[in-house]
Amino acid sequence: MHCFMIGPGGQVGVVPLEVGHPLGLWEEGWGAYEGPASAGRPQAVLVPYRAPRGPATALVVGGGQEVRVNRKRVLGRLQVLADRDMVEGEGFTLWFGAVSPPRPVEVPVGKESRCLCGDMVPGGSRAVECGCGGLFHPECWEGEATCPLCERPTAYNQPWPWVPEGFPQ
Ligand SMILES: [Zn+2]
Ligand SMILES: [Zn+2]
Repeated sequence: MHCFMIGPGGQVGVVPLEVGHPLGLWEEGWGAYEGPASAGRPQAVLVPYRAPRGPATALVVGGGQEVRVNRKRVLGRLQVLADRDMVEGEGFTLWFGAVSPPRPVEVPVGKESRCLCGDMVPGGSRAVECGCGGLFHPECWEGEATCPLCERPTAYNQPWPWVPEGFPQ
């Protein structure tokens, strides 16, 4: 998972989303946003969400904030995001991408999971995270042509599966 983002100061970037880690839209690297609507709080945060069909990502909107998804105002506080949804708030635009290319990661403690070889991938170790969120030993991953969970190719040098139209590269 990742988001393509244009921040309040016009910063542009692709921000990876750690599974299980809530992301404030104005966290480190994006600068604090001092707009009147934020009053020091994020307008919205992205949180992992356990949907009936499997893990998903939801947008939790702060009280009194106007945040739009695909140009429609979020009514209520929570909206589950679909791949390629566009999220707009005061001073930012974000596109949610559910699938990322595979990347090397250090496994957070407490996020151990089982590799395709049957052994655990322990917390604190180096691993490869597939765009679907699966974690694998690097040597096991490199021996496969496709991810055993989502069947996407394992090559590291894949392009983004999708880039928002008009997004500055
Ligand atoms: Zn393995
Ligand atoms: Zn996968």
